[in-house]
Amino acid sequence: MAIAFDNSYARLPAHFFAAVRPLESPAPRLIAVNDALAGELGIDADWLRGPAGLDVLSGRVIADGATPIAQAYAGHQFGNFQPQLGDGRAVLLGEVIDRQGRRRDIQLKGGGQTPFSRSGDGRAALGPVLREYLVSEFMSALGVPTTRALAAVTTGETIMRDTPLPGAIITRVAASHIRVGTFQFFAAREDTAALRLLADHVIARHYPDAAQAENPYLALLDGVIAAQARLVAQWTSVGFIHGVMNTDNVAVSGETIDYGPCAFMDDYDPATVFSSIDRAGRYAYGNQPRIAAWNLARFAETLVPLLDPEETAGVERAQTALGGFAPAFAEAYFGLFAAKIGLGGEADTRRALIEALLKAMAENQVDFTLFFRHLGAAAAADGGSADEPVRSLFVDPTAFDGWAREWRAALTAEARPGPERQAAMNRVNPAFIPRNHHVEAMIVAAVEREDFAPFHRMLAVLTRPLDDQPEAADFAMPPAPHERITATFC
Ligand code: AMP
Ligand code: MG
Ligand code: MG
Repeated sequence: MAIAFDNSYARLPAHFFAAVRPLESPAPRLIAVNDALAGELGIDADWLRGPAGLDVLSGRVIADGATPIAQAYAGHQFGNFQPQLGDGRAVLLGEVIDRQGRRRDIQLKGGGQTPFSRSGDGRAALGPVLREYLVSEFMSALGVPTTRALAAVTTGETIMRDTPLPGAIITRVAASHIRVGTFQFFAAREDTAALRLLADHVIARHYPDAAQAENPYLALLDGVIAAQARLVAQWTSVGFIHGVMNTDNVAVSGETIDYGPCAFMDDYDPATVFSSIDRAGRYAYGNQPRIAAWNLARFAETLVPLLDPEETAGVERAQTALGGFAPAFAEAYFGLFAAKIGLGGEADTRRALIEALLKAMAENQVDFTLFFRHLGAAAAADGGSADEPVRSLFVDPTAFDGWAREWRAALTAEARPGPERQAAMNRVNPAFIPRNHHVEAMIVAAVEREDFAPFHRMLAVLTRPLDDQPEAADFAMPPAPHERITATFC
């Protein structure tokens, strides 16, 4: 068997999923194979790259040992509950146990219609596939929990969106594809037996310690809350905007999932929104923690029947657990931002300094990524010309000077050697992010000219985002006013 499948989800009861067959791409072509990830999964990257691999990645052949299914789920989309969603264009081939003993899903996204497709065509367009590949691998390189990209292919089909576009498939790897919406699917049907099976499956797979707790389902809830708090704090610390934080796009594993019209902020502004489908700004950068808490409340509601035999007691337990989100988020968030400005110590003591900085950055249209990356050099010096690269990012540079006096006092109090501090800051402040104008240009090259060179070049740079790469200086630059992208589509 080229892929050593061990499929546990397909052993759950039949109403958890639908058995499907992936589409047979008419004329598949390989775009990329992720050698390092294939190695982690124990899959021979050369096999994957060859004709037999292409057949599997494009849906033409079902790999030995695969049990292709589409998973059922529900979800709140922009606040409205949809009791029936499910994988409408994704086919879970199965699971493998990776080299570190972790269970990982292998899924073809864009793999054709399923019983859950509703009016959709089951396809994925090339542009969003390339965006997901690039952004998920970037997030992984920064240590942000995320689904991964094992491969991308074009299918040879032309699919209809606003315009005709090339079809593509991304092979996605995830700890699992179980979502808050998966729990909602069974809760909406008042199917407590299925909920319990699902919760037990998730505990065994993602939160094994919870099995030993006095109340395992409460421990599961606590675990998911802690994972989401940490995850969204990490997003925030790199300027990431998910774009579609519907409950069906929240993985209970704590990985980032379903990269759609996601994007990274250039200038710091909490109101930043890119997604063309998010006109009201529900999922704006600065709303993400609040939305995560809202999504977790929907998750907690599904668990109430498992938390306690008495409904009111179950609700109380859920509410107490949800109260843990805000402090967990604040601790992660201020801890990450303290590290970004070169400080250790208790996250809480850094709070005022961080909030003052972010306020000044918002008022002065400061590029989020360049500011933190250049701050390392400023931290290693005593002001003067070393401050120029950061202070010049402010519309009014004296706004930086005012903040920097207090910042330097805090640095001095910690007495850490400058070069060591700078190195530590450069390990958390990326030099490169997937700047939206470059992502869009990369997509245009691939879609309009079949030119994948920009994709490969960006991927090479963005999978080493913490390294200075002088030859890629163009990717570090914010957009010029005429290059600015204000909306992303997927
Ligand atoms: P998303 O907003 O991409 O997370 O998708 C929401 C729901 O729509 C999920 O159930 C998807 O499987 C489904 N969906 C999205 N795009 C398509 C498509 N092209 N064909 C069928 N179903 C789709
Ligand atoms: Mg989705
Ligand atoms: Mg600016």
